[in-house]
Amino acid sequence: MDYALTLKKHNLKATPQRLKIVDILYKNGHLNIDQLYELLLKKFPSLSLATIYKNINTMCKKLFLQEVKIPHQKNVYELSKNEHSHLVCSKCSSIIDIDLDTSKILAQAKSISNYKLYESSIVLSGICPKCT
Ligand SMILES: [Zn+2]
Ligand SMILES: [Zn+2]
Repeated sequence: MDYALTLKKHNLKATPQRLKIVDILYKNGHLNIDQLYELLLKKFPSLSLATIYKNINTMCKKLFLQEVKIPHQKNVYELSKNEHSHLVCSKCSSIIDIDLDTSKILAQAKSISNYKLYESSIVLSGICPKCT
C-alpha cells in the first residue's frame, strides 16, 4: 500500500508522523490513543500526546481514519474501510472486524421507532477462541 498516495487522496499532507500512524494502524488493526502513542514514541521520542490527538482528529475529519467506540474501553482507531461490525474479547481486549448483515436490524429499528437511520455501529462482546 502506498501510504503517501492514500493520504494525498484524502487531502492530507504525507508528513513522516502521519505515514508512521498509517503504518502502525495498517499492521496492528485497532489501537487506542495510548497504544498508538507508545508505538510512535519509538520513532519520534519527543512527540507529545497533544500532537498525536491533533493529528488523529484531522485524519478522522478527513475520513481517513475511523474512530470506533467500544463500551467500557477507550475509543480505538482504524483505517477507514467499508462499514463493518466489531467483536471484542472481554478477557484479552482484542478487537476484530466482522462483516454482519445489519439490514434486518436496521429495518426492524426503523419500523419500531420511525427514525431515519443513517449509521450503525455494532460491537459484540464475548470471549475469543484464544481465551476460551
Ligand atoms: Zn481473548
Ligand atoms: Zn474495524
